[in-house]
Amino acid sequence: MDSRTAAGIRATTRLLAVLGHPVSHSLSPAMHNAAIAALGLDLLYIAHDVEPRNLDDVLKGLRKAGYLGVNLTIPHKEAAVRLCTKISPEARLARSVNTLRFGADGIYGDTTDGAGLLDSLKAEFGFSPKGKRIVILGAGGTARSVAAALAGTAKTIHIANRTVEKADHLAALMNRAPGKTLFTSSMLDQLELAAPLQDAQLVINTTSASLTGAALPRLPWKILDTDTIAVDVMYGRPTKFLADAKRHGLRHSDGLGMLVHQGARALRIWTGRNPDTRIMREAARKALKQGR
Ligand code: NDP
Repeated sequence: MDSRTAAGIRATTRLLAVLGHPVSHSLSPAMHNAAIAALGLDLLYIAHDVEPRNLDDVLKGLRKAGYLGVNLTIPHKEAAVRLCTKISPEARLARSVNTLRFGADGIYGDTTDGAGLLDSLKAEFGFSPKGKRIVILGAGGTARSVAAALAGTAKTIHIANRTVEKADHLAALMNRAPGKTLFTSSMLDQLELAAPLQDAQLVINTTSASLTGAALPRLPWKILDTDTIAVDVMYGRPTKFLADAKRHGLRHSDGLGMLVHQGARALRIWTGRNPDTRIMREAARKALKQGR
């Protein structure tokens, strides 16, 4: 019996789902159902392919049908914010939600991507962002969630993006958040990145370049300290960013840990229970291998 059906379905079973478009590649059902089975909960997690124009109706319907909540993935994370009746401070700052909990009083929205990444860095490297200098490559939705999770804790965060206006805009938005983190921004290029990278203790590649196989501009890897951690939020296939980090002797990690820990946070929001992240990682790895 695989982990999706191990939970079983009874008349009392509450449902959870990931909504995306496309969504068939999602590892979340396998990962969550493995954790649900290990916790002995009467829940089942499924996937729904939802076109953007149907998002409002689908969310209303799922709530009425008694779903406990949903995860949101591309392209729904920003659009769903306006449907929340209550939202976490981090989601408000990121202007993005990936987890909704349905209640009698409305819809609670949160973003667990950035915090999940930090949980995974703590678990894997014992890394704490407190007082650290961090570089984020990219200024899209994932960068926003990661920046929001780090705001107020890190010392400095430099955001570098191919479209520099988006990096400038994100840094300005984050500089308005409470706390002492200083956000700066630049183009994603070797010259502009030399100074921020020289002092960085963590470099996070949030660009979708790894996804499409496009090349990032060359980075000045040699100036990075070998204690620096390099993370690519992409998972499931080798990336040039991580190959370069490895070649230059840096500590490095892909985005599977982030996926697992953002999922663990979502399950905590829905159920108040602490899932076993090792079980979730194993299930995600297995589903990846099987090509789901
Ligand atoms: P967005 O489309 O919102 O942002 C994409 C970013 O990548 C933009 O900053 C864009 O720059 C940049 N980019 C794209 N192509 C290139 C290129 N060739 N060179 C340089 N920069 C480029 O995407 P998301 O933030 O939603 O997703 C980004 C990645 O994060 C995806 O690979 C996704 O799979 C992954 N992800 C992983 C998660 C996990 O749990 N591990 C969770 C969520 C996402 P520009 O502004 O100039 O277009």
